[in-house]
Amino acid sequence: MGTEEKSFGQQLQERLEYKNENAWLKTEVSEKDIIFEFCEGYKDFLNKAKTEREAVSYAKQRAEENGFVPLDKVLAENGRLSSGDKIYVVNRDKNIILAIIGDRPIQDGLKIVGSHVDSPRIDLKPNPLYEDGEMALFKTHYYGGIKKYQWTTIPLSIHGVLFKSDGEKVEINIGEDDSDPQFCITDLLPHLAKEQMDKKLSEVITGEGLNLLIGSIPYNEEKVKEKIKLNILDLLNQKYGIVEEDFKRAELEIVPAFKARDIGFDRSMIGSYGQDDRICAYTSLQAILRANKPEKTIICFLVDKEEIGSMGNTGIMSRFFENTVAQITSLLVDNYSDISLRKALSNSKLLSADVTAALDPTYDSVNDKKNASFLGKGIAIEKYTGSRGKSDASDANAEFIAEITNMLTRNNVIWQSGEMGKVDLGGGGTIAQYVANLGMDVIDAGPPILCMHSPLEVSSKIDIYMAYKAYLAFYNS
Ligand code: MN
Ligand code: MN
Repeated sequence: MGTEEKSFGQQLQERLEYKNENAWLKTEVSEKDIIFEFCEGYKDFLNKAKTEREAVSYAKQRAEENGFVPLDKVLAENGRLSSGDKIYVVNRDKNIILAIIGDRPIQDGLKIVGSHVDSPRIDLKPNPLYEDGEMALFKTHYYGGIKKYQWTTIPLSIHGVLFKSDGEKVEINIGEDDSDPQFCITDLLPHLAKEQMDKKLSEVITGEGLNLLIGSIPYNEEKVKEKIKLNILDLLNQKYGIVEEDFKRAELEIVPAFKARDIGFDRSMIGSYGQDDRICAYTSLQAILRANKPEKTIICFLVDKEEIGSMGNTGIMSRFFENTVAQITSLLVDNYSDISLRKALSNSKLLSADVTAALDPTYDSVNDKKNASFLGKGIAIEKYTGSRGKSDASDANAEFIAEITNMLTRNNVIWQSGEMGKVDLGGGGTIAQYVANLGMDVIDAGPPILCMHSPLEVSSKIDIYMAYKAYLAFYNS
C-alpha cells in the first residue's frame, strides 16, 4: 500500500497554487461538536434579538454578566481607567460599545470589530391604523433593501416601543410566543392574478401595498363609524393603555415571526431572519466576552442604521464612536488633547464585520466563480465592496490585508476572499468606508450568506464559527 510518488508537476502545483478547500474537510470531529454547540447560542440570540434595540439589550446584559461596567459609573466613581478595565457605553438603546482597556498606551491605537444590528424590515407609518373591506390594517414603510414580494404571506410579529403623551414608554413584542397572535401581509390568489403576473417583479408588490392585516371584528355599536378600527384601538388601549396618537411617537418594526432553525439533513446551515448582520454582532460579542487581557485596547461596536446608509445619531457616521474613544482616552492619558484622540484613532485597526453574498448555484450567473465567496469555506475577507468600478469602496491596503490574513492563518482560522458579484451587476457597501475616514486601517470580514435581506437568510455553521475565531484571534493577537 505505498503512496504513489508525486510527479514534479504535481509537487509544483501543490507548492504554487492556491487551494480553497471546503472548511468542513479541514475540521476534526471534536471541533464539529464545538461548532454546533456554539451555533445553538447564536440561534437563541437570533430569536431574542430581532431588532436593533433587542440586540443592544442582549449585548448589554451579557456585558454586565461578564464584568463590564457602564463608562458613566467609572466617571462618577474615580474618573480614571486602567489596563484590564472592562467598560460599555450604550447610545440611545440602539448602539453599544464594549471595551477592554489594553496594556499599551491608547495612542498606539485600538483594535475594533464593528458590526451592525439593524436588519431590513418593515416599519409602521406614523399614522398606520385604518379600516377597509371589513378589515383593520396598518400602513407601513419598509426599511432597507428588500424584495417586497418575499414579505407577503408569511407570519409576522411586531416589536418596538411607543411613548404616551405623558412620556411613559410602552414596549411591544407580539407574535413570538406560541400563544401570541401573528400578523401578515396579503397577496392575490393566482386565480385572479393574471394582470399581476404580467408585471415586472419589482412592481408586483409596491411599497404602498405592504399593508399589515391586524383584525376583523367590529365594535358592536350602531352609532360608530369604522367599527373594526375602533375595536382594535379598544383592545390596544386595554392591553397597553395607548391611544391612536401614540403611534406618532413610536418605533414599531414588523419582522418575520418564525424562529431560527437548522437547515439541511446534515444540519450544517442556519435559516433565520436578521443574520445580516447579527451574525457578526453575535460572533464579535462572544469574541470580546472571551478575549484575553489585551495588549491594545479592544472594542466591540454594534451599530445601527447601516441598512439605510449609516446616517443618523445611531449610525456609524454619527460622532458617538469618536466621542466614546475621546472619553476613554481622556481617562487614560495625562494632559488629554485632541492630538491624543487623533493618534488613537489613526493608529487603530478595524474589522468591518458584515456579511457578503455566498454563491448560489441556482443563480451563479451573477458571480465570477473565481472571485465569489462560498458557504462553508470560512470567513470572507473582502478588500473592497462598492459597485461599478469600486465606487463607495474603502479598498483596504495590501499591507493591512497581509497583516490580517497572515494573522488568521497563524491562528488556524479558515478564510476565503472574493467580491460580491460580477463587476457591473450591482454591489453594496458596509461601514468600512465611513470608519476609514477616521484614518484607521479597515477591512471587511464576515461570513457569506444566501438569500441576503430576505425573511429567511441562510448561513453555514462553520463560517459562523470561523468568524468568531477570526474576531477572537484579532483581539488576542
Ligand atoms: Mn450588512
Ligand atoms: Mn444588508
